Amino acid sequence: MIYLKAGREKSLRRRHPWIFSGAVERATEQPKAGDTVEVRDTSGKTWARAAFSPQSQIRARVWTFDPAEEVDAAFFRNRVMRSLAVRESLPAAKHSNALRLVHAESDGLPGLVVDRYADVLVAQFLAAGVERWRDPILDALAELTGCEAIYERSDAETRKLEGLEPRAGFVRGNRAAARCPIIEYGLNFRVDVEQGQKTGFFLDQRENRQRVRALAAGREALDGFCYTGGFAINALAGGAKRVLAIESSAPSLEVARENLAANAVDAGKAEFVQADAFAHLRTLRDRGAQFDLAVLDPPKFAPTAAQAKNAARAYKDINLLAFKLLRPGGLLATFSCSGGVDAALFQSIVAGAALDASADAKIIERFSAAADHPVALEFPEGEYLKGLLLLKT
Ligand code: SAH
Repeated sequence: MIYLKAGREKSLRRRHPWIFSGAVERATEQPKAGDTVEVRDTSGKTWARAAFSPQSQIRARVWTFDPAEEVDAAFFRNRVMRSLAVRESLPAAKHSNALRLVHAESDGLPGLVVDRYADVLVAQFLAAGVERWRDPILDALAELTGCEAIYERSDAETRKLEGLEPRAGFVRGNRAAARCPIIEYGLNFRVDVEQGQKTGFFLDQRENRQRVRALAAGREALDGFCYTGGFAINALAGGAKRVLAIESSAPSLEVARENLAANAVDAGKAEFVQADAFAHLRTLRDRGAQFDLAVLDPPKFAPTAAQAKNAARAYKDINLLAFKLLRPGGLLATFSCSGGVDAALFQSIVAGAALDASADAKIIERFSAAADHPVALEFPEGEYLKGLLLLKT
């Protein structure tokens, strides 16, 4: 049982799933990591049942706001079933065999991420609660998806905050080759579930890649942070005249080249460069290079608001360079996946970049994460990916 300080049940009233350490008055019965605890206010009223995590600032994550609901294997099977049902109704399910099946807090399963790549699942257990229920969750996933192979990628930094050791490897089934071929809107991609970033592929950008494909015809395109070639190959498939793609990681570029070869696009029009994008964009500017379409999808510069200032400088830097590299009439698709930089701040950073580049630009569209990364209304933190499509006039 945990008792909250006076008034600290306020966030639970709004059904927010996190209970911070500062809100907890005391815990009774010395709960251990992953134990299910009842959450009570000063009057003794029970508000929720939650997973306790003694080392984390997020001291407990709510499983259910119904104090009578059992948290057991059947509970997790139900939650997984509910998550899968949401995906079945999504149009993307008809266009890709790679989907995010469980998106943590937003799907009522705090700390659990599950991506499906064709017939392989990749699961991340990122909090003490889901760590405790790992086996029943894996059983439910295997049973309900019919996927025989499940690869665990519980190696994200955030596990440290929960006092959990990293863990990775096949936990159900086995595969000699961990590079899963997937199809996204008719294009082929290889996903390296063992060595790739995150769970192997950035599924959240699926619809935005497709959008860039639709905008690319006849344009000279630049992909500043290309990973395994997602936007670059979409631009080619959409009829781009040429694509220059930059990426700092050699293994990612290797997969990008495989992906290029796996699609019916003119590989001769693509150039992949292993470089630091900050430096290389500068070099391109100094050479007077010009493009008609630029995509900037950098890594998370600011995981939390505390890093927002440095992140702002980095976003401004690359966007300023992109504005300089675009011809009038050129399009810039620019993204931020930093939780610590919200949409309004991101827009003002990009506005500052345009100003300093002496560029005039209009927002003609806004981007967000694909619908298989839903945002629960009571959990705005789930909205991390934002982007702008800008027309340079
Ligand atoms: N748009 C991609 C995902 C990009 S993720 C897709 O659709 O799949 C961001 C990428 O930026 C990662 O692959 C990371 O390795 C790369 N990266 C990080 N820092 C970089 C830098 N300074 N220069 C170039 N690439 C960088």
